[in-house]
Amino acid sequence: MFNLPTGPKLNSSGGVEKDVVGEEKGCLAVVPVAEEGKTLGRLLDLIHPGQAATFDTLQSLRTTLQAANKYGMEGIVDGGEPLLLASLESDSVGVYAVACAFKFEKTTRLAAKLTLRQPMLFPFSKELECISGAALYRLLEYRQACGKQAIQAANTAWDHNLGAWCRRQSCERASQTLGMYTVTLWWWDYIHETHDRLKECPSSDAILDPALASPFIERAMKCEICQGTLPSGFGLFTSRYAKEADAAVSQVHLQVEF
Ligand SMILES: [Zn+2]
Repeated sequence: MFNLPTGPKLNSSGGVEKDVVGEEKGCLAVVPVAEEGKTLGRLLDLIHPGQAATFDTLQSLRTTLQAANKYGMEGIVDGGEPLLLASLESDSVGVYAVACAFKFEKTTRLAAKLTLRQPMLFPFSKELECISGAALYRLLEYRQACGKQAIQAANTAWDHNLGAWCRRQSCERASQTLGMYTVTLWWWDYIHETHDRLKECPSSDAILDPALASPFIERAMKCEICQGTLPSGFGLFTSRYAKEADAAVSQVHLQVEF
C-alpha cells in the first residue's frame, strides 16, 4: 500500500509550501502510485454512488480490477465478474484469461465454451499474458476433447437418416464403409469435411455453416435420386447433427485450477 503524509508542510515563514511533488500540493497530499489516472478514475467511479464506470476495452476492465485487488477492495473485484460478459462475443479467449486471473470460475467455463467458435489457433488476445501456461494448456486440452466428442456425434445423428439418399444406388459410392454402411461418395466427403472443420472449430456453428455443405449439395443434386430426397433429409440431418454435437460437447469437463 502507501503511506500518507501527516499534514501540509510549512515553509520558514509559516506558509504552506507549494507543489512539492511526492509529498504535498498545497494542503493536499500527493501520493505516488503505479496506476494511470484513468485506471484510478474508473476505480473511483465503481465505488462512487450514482456514478457508472465505463470500460471501453477488456484491458481497461482488467487493469481496474487489478488495482482494486492491489488495494484490497475485494467487493469491487467480486463485482467485476458480470462486467466481463460484455466482451464474451468479441474476445472470448481474453475473457477466459481475465476470468482465470481473478478466479471467476463460472465465467472461466462460459468463456472457454465460447472459444469453441474460434479456430484452433484462435486470434491472439493480449489478455493471455496475464495467465499461466498451465491455464492455457487446460483450455487447449478442453477444445481438443470437445472436437473429438463433436465428431463422434455424427455417428449418432447419421444412423437416424441413413437411407434417405440413393436407395437405388445411382450415385457413385465411397470405396470405404461408414460404420457398417456403404454410402455415397459425396456424403462420405461431406462427413469428412465436417470432421476436419470440427477439429478446428468444435462447435455446432461449423455444422450449420451453409458454406460448408454447399459444394456437396451441388454434387448430390446432379443425381436424380438424391435431388428429390436431399432438401428435406439433409436439413433434418444437419439440425440433428448440430444438436447431438452440442449435447456431446456439453459433457466435456473443463479442468479449472486457481
Ligand atoms: Zn444419389
